[in-house]
Amino acid sequence: MTEFHEGGCVCGRVRYKAGGDPQRVSLCSCTWCQKRTGSALGISVYFLKEDVEIDESLLGTHRLMSDAGRWIEQEFCTHCGTALTWTLEFRPDYRGFAGGTFDQPTFWYKPERYVFTRSKPDWLTVTGNIETCEAMPE
Ligand SMILES: [Zn+2]
Ligand SMILES: [Zn+2]
Repeated sequence: MTEFHEGGCVCGRVRYKAGGDPQRVSLCSCTWCQKRTGSALGISVYFLKEDVEIDESLLGTHRLMSDAGRWIEQEFCTHCGTALTWTLEFRPDYRGFAGGTFDQPTFWYKPERYVFTRSKPDWLTVTGNIETCEAMPE
């Protein structure tokens, strides 16, 4: 039986399910992640698109250029505005999830790497076995 990770937006209108284990879990302090979260870093949890269930009709989309010079298309709840998921130009087969929107977020508590540390605040350091990168590695 496939395990699902469920979550949703602040108002509860949009609910999603992501199946299996995440393909990647990253921390990111790019300017986009700081804007979308209103915080010092974003937590990005990537699943294969085919393993995701979400009602696209409840989502608005916004496309922008990332700090790495590629597009990101973000999906958000059109009612409460919570930024929930996104697709990256260089990984179109993945769907990224904002880590804090999962109901039970503990499954992603061992991120593999921390990218765009060049724009993190000086007071923020991560511990543990986490690879850090100044920008986005190729
Ligand atoms: Zn909502
Ligand atoms: Zn980022």
